[in-house]
Amino acid sequence: MISKEILDNLQNASWIRKMFEEGDRLEKKFGAENVFDFSLGNPREEPPVSVRETLQKLASSPSSGMHRYMSNAGYPETREAVASAITSETGRPFPPGNVVMTNGAAGGLNVVLKSLLDPEDEVVIFAPFFVEYMFYIRNSRGVPVVCPTPHENFQPQPEDLAGLLTNRTRAVILNSPNNPTGVVYSRETLQSLAEVIRDREEKTGKPIFIISDEPYKKIVYDGIRVPEILNIFSNSIIVSSYSKSLGLAGERIGYAAVNTETAEPEQLVNALVFCQRTLGFVNAPAIAQRLVQEAAGESVDVTGYQGKRDLLHGALVDFGFTCVKPEGAFYLFPRTPGDEMEFIRKAQEHNLLFVPGKGFGCPGHFRISYCNDEAMIRRAIPVIRKLAAQFF
Ligand code: PLP
Repeated sequence: MISKEILDNLQNASWIRKMFEEGDRLEKKFGAENVFDFSLGNPREEPPVSVRETLQKLASSPSSGMHRYMSNAGYPETREAVASAITSETGRPFPPGNVVMTNGAAGGLNVVLKSLLDPEDEVVIFAPFFVEYMFYIRNSRGVPVVCPTPHENFQPQPEDLAGLLTNRTRAVILNSPNNPTGVVYSRETLQSLAEVIRDREEKTGKPIFIISDEPYKKIVYDGIRVPEILNIFSNSIIVSSYSKSLGLAGERIGYAAVNTETAEPEQLVNALVFCQRTLGFVNAPAIAQRLVQEAAGESVDVTGYQGKRDLLHGALVDFGFTCVKPEGAFYLFPRTPGDEMEFIRKAQEHNLLFVPGKGFGCPGHFRISYCNDEAMIRRAIPVIRKLAAQFF
């Protein structure tokens, strides 16, 4: 039968998927307009017009060879476009040779972890975290080490990280803007983490890699800018995708970018290319690469998301919830009043679908994903008020 490890994982399978499937069931029973599914981070925004135009161009005048295998790292022109976007964001020249096109951020993370980890190597992740990290780290025979963050602001604390670093620590995963909190890690936070890592590297002589998972980097509000990880951490690898920023989650397109200051960058890029091939991805999807090549610096319009954040955050606080105001991504992570699972069950009785915080390693909270239609959010608000009245 199937592997024991996978069997265990199936039993702990993601709460997000469970709630999403529950949403489907409720929609069939009560009708879609009476179900408020805030479970999945699946953007409803359509890709920008320019992406759709490129797709039409590719379809109406296909070039010969556009369906063939290519270099496992991706098309040179696409890597060039990504590198040039990174150059303009960081203000420092970034070489295309350090970019490897991947199958979304998920594919990128698996390729990076496979390249870095020996069995039993430790990878620190900050709670709350994207639950797939656990599985991705274990896919590469690594050991996840969870570092909690304070619930007032969810900013990682340097002393907490310092207490968890060991001789087996190989990497630290950062995710900002964060899923599930929407928090953007501040420059001060990041610089203090960099100091802790530098101290440790100096003591042990072993590099600790920052893997910065950034699929939400372009989805930020109130004009804030996400600090550039490549400018703060030397041993760093950016993993990103166009799933959220261009609304191309189904196309499975992203990249890994290796900092030029990393110890032995060339060898690391070669390892990524090798793992891209041997994990069975072979190369990132050809047509999707051509699409993002034309739109590497673009993003969906975030004003719609910002309006939804304001609407929901304002309502939650009015109704009595405690919730950090997110600066990015499209999630809210309020505290649950009383017992977490009782709250989730009561919400379900109102056809409101949220994901419990324990699904992100942070019980006592719930996640609301608001990349939904605004009309649905507006219909849901009086229902959330009724739910809140049962607790406050
Ligand atoms: N990392 C985080 C934090 C995410 O939230 C997601 C998807 O929701 C991913 C990675 C995977 O994204 P992709 O579709 O680019 O593989």
